Amino acid sequence: APDRKVAILGAAGGIGQPLSLLMKLNPLVSRLALYDIAGTPGVAADVSHINTRSEILGYAGEEQLGKALEGADVVIIPAGVPRKPGMTRDDLFNINAGIVKSLCTAIAKYCPHALVNVISNPVNSTVPIASEVFKKAGTYDEKRLFGVTTLDVVRAKTFYAGKAKVNVADVIVPVVGGHAGVTILPLFSQATPSANLSSEEIEALTKRTQDGGTEVVEAKAGKGSATLSMAYAGAIFADACLKGLNGVPDVVECSFVQSTVTDLPFFASKVRLGKNGVEEVLGLGALSDYEKEGLEALKPELKSSIEKGIKFANA
Ligand code: ADP
Repeated sequence: APDRKVAILGAAGGIGQPLSLLMKLNPLVSRLALYDIAGTPGVAADVSHINTRSEILGYAGEEQLGKALEGADVVIIPAGVPRKPGMTRDDLFNINAGIVKSLCTAIAKYCPHALVNVISNPVNSTVPIASEVFKKAGTYDEKRLFGVTTLDVVRAKTFYAGKAKVNVADVIVPVVGGHAGVTILPLFSQATPSANLSSEEIEALTKRTQDGGTEVVEAKAGKGSATLSMAYAGAIFADACLKGLNGVPDVVECSFVQSTVTDLPFFASKVRLGKNGVEEVLGLGALSDYEKEGLEALKPELKSSIEKGIKFANA
């Protein structure tokens, strides 16, 4: 297998740690760089004892970010801060947006050709921020920038399989739009294996997929948000990126990318992955009336989140 370096930025966090574990288990990875501003040595030492192919490289602190990124084929970004009491949504936005901006500035400098997998929320804004940073640095390639929306797909598959009583391992469901609330649009009319679900059941599945994050936040009761399922989803998407780079044919995953599928500049839909990242952004296919309504309903929010990101990056 080819030499492939993957870097995880924010590797010591709630998502970063299980993501580091899962990427250590991936046989396509030869070098795994774990970077965080704090806590990386412990995570790196721990994961490094696992007897799989990849070499673990731990980097702590900003002065080591360049080393972490050098030669990376895929960079995964779960870095961020959790919302603390007294912090508004805007405070959180500004902090995470700033983190993504500074990490992407370093990516442009140290590994401008890497495929970038953005997990840090709000993805609907952080991906446009990344694109602006890369444009300013003169390194932007729309084929190499991805918002990771795989957790929406993972949830849609799980919830659909439960309701339709089909084997979850066989289920395929595209999820399009964005990565927050109503901007998440699962296309259950295209789900396979097909099932005769009522419109009430489809509506309930759609809402549950859109509110999946809240379901976990409430269950964790103040102790965090989705980390394990997000790490799983991040690992699935990074694996698809690596397969594409390695020339495996017909690797298709949904992702939030630069797009002409709708009138919005970024949109999640099925994407064929290849040796240069995005090989093809696939269209939406036939939508049910319910999905058509959902599509129109999500556009204003998604548009304003994209604009908020672009404005932040250029402020
Ligand atoms: P989540 O549950 O979303 O993973 P956490 O707060 O547990 O949230 O993890 C986020 C991680 O991101 C923390 O380990 C934190 O140290 C890290 N982090 C914060 N800022 C940066 C940064 N500028 N560069 C790299 N990592 C960062």
